Amino acid sequence: TTLDDWTRSDEYHNKRLISPDDGLEGALKRSKENGLPDIAVSEAQGKFLHLLVRSHGFKRVLEVGTLGGYSTIWLARGVPEDGQVTTLEISEKHAKVAAENFKAAGVDSKIKLIVGSALETLPTIAADQPFDLVFIDADKPSNLDYFKHAKRLTKKGSVIIVDNVVRNGRVSIPEYTDANVEGVRRLLEYLATDKEVDATTLATVGTKGYDGFVYALRL
Ligand code: SAM
Repeated sequence: TTLDDWTRSDEYHNKRLISPDDGLEGALKRSKENGLPDIAVSEAQGKFLHLLVRSHGFKRVLEVGTLGGYSTIWLARGVPEDGQVTTLEISEKHAKVAAENFKAAGVDSKIKLIVGSALETLPTIAADQPFDLVFIDADKPSNLDYFKHAKRLTKKGSVIIVDNVVRNGRVSIPEYTDANVEGVRRLLEYLATDKEVDATTLATVGTKGYDGFVYALRL
C-alpha cells in the first residue's frame, strides 16, 4: 500500500468520526497561506490527543513545538474551561500565525504561548504545578532533553507523548544516522532503563505516512 491508500483510508474514517471544525480547518488554511510547513499532526492524531485529554480529565497540558497551533487547538478543545495548554515555539513567525489561529478558534484564553527555544524556556517553567500531559513535537535531536524536562514537570499518572519516533522505520535501520533518527535513538536508549516511566511505541500509517509516537506513563 502507498500514501494514497493511507490517505484514502484516513479520509474514510475521519468523515465518519470527526465533525468539521472551522477553528481547526481555519488554522491549517492560515498556516498554509503563511508558508508554514505541512508538518502538523494529522486530523486523526489530533483527535486522539483531544480524546486522551478528555478521557483522563486532564487539565494542564504542555506542548513543545507549536507550529501554527493545529495540535494545540485540538488539545485546548479537550481541557475544561479552567484548564490550560502551555505551548512552546522557537519561531516568531510560527508563533504569530498560531496566536491568530487560537483567536479565530476561540481558544486563546486557554492557551499560553511561550516564544523562544524550548531548551531555554523549559528551564524557566516551575514544577510546582505539574502537567497532566506533555506532547513533545519539536526538533528531534533535543528529544531526550525535552523528555527529561517533561519528567521534571509531571507527576505520577501523567502521560508524555513524543511524536515522529518511527520515521518510515529508519530509526531501526543502522545505515540511517541523520540527526533526527539519532535523536529518537537516544530517547529510546534512555527509556530502555528508565524506572520512572513505562512506555510503548504506537506505530501509525495515514495521511502523514509511516511514523509513530512514544506513549509514556509517569510512574
Ligand atoms: N505540534 C504541531 C502540530 O502538530 O500542529 C507541529 C509542530 S512542528 C512538527 C515542530 C515545531 O517545533 C516547528 O514549528 C518548529 O519551529 C518548532 N521548533 C523547532 N525547534 C524548536 C526549539 N528549539 N524550541 C521550540 N520549538 C522548536
